[in-house]
Amino acid sequence: MILKDVLGALRDIGKGMAVVQRAPRKGVATKLYPYELPELPPVSCQSLALITEADGSDRCISCLLCEKACPSQVIVIERKRNPDGKGFVLERFDIDLVNCMYCAACVEACPVSAIVTIGDFELSTYDLQTLKADKEFLDAQGRRAKQWYSPKHGVEYRDEHGSIVRAPLAEQPGGEAARLEAKAEEGKP
Ligand code: SF4
Ligand code: SF4
Repeated sequence: MILKDVLGALRDIGKGMAVVQRAPRKGVATKLYPYELPELPPVSCQSLALITEADGSDRCISCLLCEKACPSQVIVIERKRNPDGKGFVLERFDIDLVNCMYCAACVEACPVSAIVTIGDFELSTYDLQTLKADKEFLDAQGRRAKQWYSPKHGVEYRDEHGSIVRAPLAEQPGGEAARLEAKAEEGKP
């Protein structure tokens, strides 16, 4: 019985070694992170960001829809009436990124693509307090994101002047390209 187990173990070790021997011939599939970074697809929900326009103004209109849509209730928004006219002024926008489950329900709920998904997966930290993201942090994430995604506008990025540009259809994800094309044909923005 023991001999049978030993032979079985040796056979399994041999199989494993054979796989290891064959691997280099297939080429290296892993990256030497953090020295080499993976290229993530544009529709990649690694974290969240708030988008500000080229002049620094908030895209967010303080409608609270994202806060209401969040199943984890990790978004806290405070706003006040705009003294200069209609609408609101955003006073606080926090997301507890520790307890966020990155479902992107907030992004789907946003009517103006102010909250978006980004591909920043390097927020790991020993201090969880740094992941209690406030507006300043979320704005900074939006400014440094190379590109971002929202269902309403698809993939967007900033040009060299800081203006927001919607990626061309060829760079939009499959279903998104078809949807935007159909909207363009209907003459909708
Ligand atoms: S991704 Fe989901 S859990 Fe996280 S803030 Fe948005 S709605 Fe809430
Ligand atoms: S991020 Fe979007 S959904 Fe949330 S309050 Fe601002 S405009 Fe409304």
